Amino acid sequence: MESVRTGANGAGAAMNFAIVARLALAVLFALLCAPARAMTGEAPEFRALAENVFVYVGKRNEANAMAIVTGQGVVVVDTGNSPAETRNFAKAIRAATSLPVQYVIVTQNHGDHIGGAPFFAPPATMIVHDKVAKALAEMKPWRIKAWRARFPERAGALENSGPLANVMSFPARLSLRLGGVAIDLFHVPDQYNDGDVAVWLPGLGILHAGFVGYKDRHPDIRPDYSHGTTAGMLKQLEAMIALKPKIVIPGHGPVSTADDLKVEVDYILSARAKVRAMMDRGLGIDAIRAGFDMREYAGWDLPDHFPLIAETIWREFRGEGPQRAAVAELPVNGTIRAIAELGRFLTVVTDAGDELKLRISNETFVEGVADRALLKPGVKFSATYQKPEGVTPALGYLLMEISFAP
Ligand SMILES: [Zn+2]
Repeated sequence: MESVRTGANGAGAAMNFAIVARLALAVLFALLCAPARAMTGEAPEFRALAENVFVYVGKRNEANAMAIVTGQGVVVVDTGNSPAETRNFAKAIRAATSLPVQYVIVTQNHGDHIGGAPFFAPPATMIVHDKVAKALAEMKPWRIKAWRARFPERAGALENSGPLANVMSFPARLSLRLGGVAIDLFHVPDQYNDGDVAVWLPGLGILHAGFVGYKDRHPDIRPDYSHGTTAGMLKQLEAMIALKPKIVIPGHGPVSTADDLKVEVDYILSARAKVRAMMDRGLGIDAIRAGFDMREYAGWDLPDHFPLIAETIWREFRGEGPQRAAVAELPVNGTIRAIAELGRFLTVVTDAGDELKLRISNETFVEGVADRALLKPGVKFSATYQKPEGVTPALGYLLMEISFAP
């Protein structure tokens, strides 16, 4: 929100009362209409946290990244939310050092963290958890196609390469000592964690906490355990708090501290207690989804996540594994009706006349538009999307491929 400056220059210049009153009303109106959500700025920010350690804070809570400059080249941690962000991150690194990027550490196997890896590797080496390496080895052809097409300027470098070609993986811990800098990677073992990695710089007290490093944000956990479970989060947070980090870089959102990790622990314990109490009262999942909220954490980002958080915890308490559904891969032709979140979420009308919600992920192969943010209502498309049986995903069906008419 923009601040209102009141007579900072020109001492004695009395401000017209009516203007002040109007400004005050305008501010009040803005506050009432749009309660401030904890959010990073409108533009990404690249800044030094210590000598030779830089954070790239994603715009509007998009994924963060980090760059560590060592005597043996640059180590990047995560790769930017989208191709445009990856390029921007790489440009900022080039402005800070002439050394090349040697390693790309991935904290989460989600497109907004790993998706920019093919921009750097090869020649850089990707460092991932063993589970992520396994997932890369099993990547479906449509995803490999999107991976290869993600950075057209890298077509030559990637021609004879694959998602696993420059990967080095580890099971629990890995210590790098590069040009005098100590970089410790660790994974907190958990059956439902798909290979999240934290990055710890012991000499500097800086921690990239990956998924669990939230500040003022409701956790993005889901019944399919695609971000793990609250039990797994608590284990990770315990390990991270024990390090006593001075600076914490979360996967998304503003740079935080160990105290924010402690707030996150309190949050999760409270959320679990609420779901437990509703289960003890004999409520079913629909009532629990509808009745659960964490409104005391006012102003936090992702306020729409309450039903997903409730259902994830409910599954955990019942000892159920991740929600899995048979997934059909369906073709669809239609016209865009509405667009949200810079083209991430599309509401479309199919040629058969049905309304459908679709989601462009970082793994979607997009053709016919340079940037999804440029999409407009009325544009025609043909696409393939994934439809899980018996589930209507709140964020829309995941698009595998989408091609827009010129
Ligand atoms: Zn993310």
